[in-house]
Amino acid sequence: MEYINAKTIVRKCIPNWNYLSFEYAMDIYRGCSHGCIYCYARSSYYEKSDNFDCVRAKRDALQIIRDELRRKTTTGVVLMGGVSDSYNPKEKELKLSRNALELINAFDFGVCIITKSNLVTRDTDILLDIKEHSPASVNFSITCSDDETCKKIEPNVSTTKERFEAIEYLTKNGITTGVLMDPVIPYITDTKENVQEMVKKAKNYGASYIYLSTQVTMADVQRDYFLHEAEKHYPGISEKFLQRYKNYYRCRSFNSKKMWHTFVETCEKEGMNYDIRKVNQMLRSGYSSL
Ligand code: SF4
Repeated sequence: MEYINAKTIVRKCIPNWNYLSFEYAMDIYRGCSHGCIYCYARSSYYEKSDNFDCVRAKRDALQIIRDELRRKTTTGVVLMGGVSDSYNPKEKELKLSRNALELINAFDFGVCIITKSNLVTRDTDILLDIKEHSPASVNFSITCSDDETCKKIEPNVSTTKERFEAIEYLTKNGITTGVLMDPVIPYITDTKENVQEMVKKAKNYGASYIYLSTQVTMADVQRDYFLHEAEKHYPGISEKFLQRYKNYYRCRSFNSKKMWHTFVETCEKEGMNYDIRKVNQMLRSGYSSL
């Protein structure tokens, strides 16, 4: 494992009630080996090296996190996995994310995990301890309902099926879970069928809520990488994509209105919570200190 220096890890955030809400965020690792072809963390805004696929850990991460949590004057929910997945393959052995959860628990903070890996199920015990005093949720980023598409666009990570099975496991063991259908990739995942299946699976496997984005953001090297990789599986997509979106940062699906309509209709029919404000209220209800 390569280590990099970090002066600080736990950063203060302004809660955004139009998305999952959190007061702090931490990324223990830099880079990610999960290989999602659309990953925004690959852009130069987040990644300063040309080594994104190589996971590096922050040196002395646990001491830094412990000192920073101890110094905070107010507690709150800590986002884990916003930029780099906290449950990369190295985590199995290093257990830095697991130990960070122990610190979050010890200092009475809550946690909101975003991941694409079923390794998070390993830490169910600590999540249950956190839930005793603060919100604890695991949010699986899932972009497509079938493993065939998943293997093309997210080659090295738990498959869609494995992620839904992890949702089932966590839910059965008392942890609140959600599905983030984010991003939505024009010409690949922005279909009515995909949206319907995603909502149905989220419901059937026990997720408490689902969030839908209708776009993907693209910046510099991220766009180049996406177009190069997508072309291997979807010949002609790069030309169509560039014609429509040029070098735009926000690439909203041309089906976005229809998708949203289908999404709302299916959620209502299935009884699935999709209102993110209500989701945030639900995640925090019963925790008076937040
Ligand atoms: S899991 Fe997340 S951070 Fe890792 S490559 Fe995929 S989108 Fe990027």
